[in-house]
Amino acid sequence: MTETIMENMNLQQLTKLCHDTAVEKGFWDQKRNIGEALMLIVTELAEAMESHRVEDHDNFKVEIADTFIRLFDLCGGLDIDITKEIEKKAAKNKKRPYKHGKIC
Ligand SMILES: [Mg+2]
Repeated sequence: MTETIMENMNLQQLTKLCHDTAVEKGFWDQKRNIGEALMLIVTELAEAMESHRVEDHDNFKVEIADTFIRLFDLCGGLDIDITKEIEKKAAKNKKRPYKHGKIC
């Protein structure tokens, strides 16, 4: 898959790509523990934090990508239409007051 093709993928297609790859590699052979899957996503963010801390800018981007890959995989496994969910929540956020009505 070339970078040009990836650049034109929508969220639904990225979800399918990431989930299909995880299935192909055996990560969905047994019923997934959703709590564990969520914590693995947090682990990728922790890895990004460590990369930021040591100023490893290239690996920081890799870990952010890992985070999205795990999120898309989970969305695929749970049949979540993430485009629709983001659209709904972004519209709700758009209507909220400045700083969501908080002072800081
Ligand atoms: Mg990682």
